Amino acid sequence: MLAQEIIRRKRDGMRLSAEELAFVARSIGDGGMAEGQVAAFAMAVYFNGLDMDERVALTRAMAQSGRIIDWSGMTLPGPRVDKHSTGGVGDKVSLILAPLVAACGAAVPMISGRGLGHTGGTLDKLDSIPGYDTAPDIARFQHAVAEAGCAIIGQTDDLAPADRRLYAVRDVTATVESIGLITASILSKKLAAGLEALVMDVKTGSGAFAAAMDESRELARSIVTVANGAGLPTAALITDMDQVLGSTAGNALEVAEAVAFLAGDTRDLRLDEVVRSLAREMLLLARLAEDDDEADDRIASALDSGEAAERFGRMVHALGGPADLLRQAGRQLPAAPIQRPVAAETAAYVSAMDTRSLGLLVIELGGGRRRAEDSVDHAVGLSAIAGIGRWLEAGEPLAIIHARDETAWQRAAADLRRAVALSAERPTRDRLVIHERIV
Ligand code: URA
Repeated sequence: MLAQEIIRRKRDGMRLSAEELAFVARSIGDGGMAEGQVAAFAMAVYFNGLDMDERVALTRAMAQSGRIIDWSGMTLPGPRVDKHSTGGVGDKVSLILAPLVAACGAAVPMISGRGLGHTGGTLDKLDSIPGYDTAPDIARFQHAVAEAGCAIIGQTDDLAPADRRLYAVRDVTATVESIGLITASILSKKLAAGLEALVMDVKTGSGAFAAAMDESRELARSIVTVANGAGLPTAALITDMDQVLGSTAGNALEVAEAVAFLAGDTRDLRLDEVVRSLAREMLLLARLAEDDDEADDRIASALDSGEAAERFGRMVHALGGPADLLRQAGRQLPAAPIQRPVAAETAAYVSAMDTRSLGLLVIELGGGRRRAEDSVDHAVGLSAIAGIGRWLEAGEPLAIIHARDETAWQRAAADLRRAVALSAERPTRDRLVIHERIV
């Protein structure tokens, strides 16, 4: 087969066969296709799309371009199930969900990403824990899953190498925003992780990549259809990202919020609803619960008994972090030298939030990257963020800014005031957290 002939057929709007897509994935992975050909293929797909059968074939072939993790020789606590999110601001769900679902009897081998655009990444959050290894070899990863029931790490070089190369080319050729390519990219890594079930958290709203509901729905349907077509039972929830999820945004601050949630100290209601809803879907798909009620009971008892918190501690320790993080989070996690609130000038309701801008504010503070090679300041960010609908008296904080220096604090304070709208009227908009379930 010739790469240029396959590119020509897609350029002219034709359907590619499974064999052609297997050739493309293999040639992207092993370098058989030149950089220009990979870019031309991505652009042809961007304009002419892939139907569902083509997406299934490309997903399978990209997964097979590298190693598929083999769990057959391992004794695991239960079926292998994972959750993947399309990304948002303050989204610390994975840190809570993985140990929670492990405490309910599943094995959760989670391959996560770094911050992308205005969103935070689970790996950057975990890097704020001293000693935690987000890039172990596969044997250590598997051992951590067997030991704690869950482990969260980054993509290794040998998992779906075709995706790694194609993604890098898409990133610099304006071809990221293709539903077919996004679907194959996410799912190829999930198939390579050797999962038995997957739940997708597709975000919608001002802090999501797909801000409009129609786009989120199209992506969720594509992922559910293609994953099931590729033999991976999958369901999706479309969840709200019209405001920060929980009360913090920033790496160590989000780890601290996740620890406080697991320990039962403070539980933001919207975060609680997202965590429990995703956990329920995971237990149902993994057949660890017969129905919603049974799933909800298991989730409540894993949280109330402290078993979920204990799994988190075991995971952190198995991957090199401190054994006492749960008891000593305040001492173990980095803290910013300046921590000062921005106060509401008059009494008012919080009526809206430009969530994307708040994500960018955290990056400006140093909590994310401007360029791929930048290092991240894990200590900075926002805490005590007042949610939409909250009544603030004059002088009460919109949020506390954690900054490295005074100049950074002042700039972030101005950005925060611009991003949060206040009103004398109580906001009337429906505040749904879970918008839709797609199976
Ligand atoms: N995340 C991925 O892994 N791939 C994409 O294409 C987009 C988001």
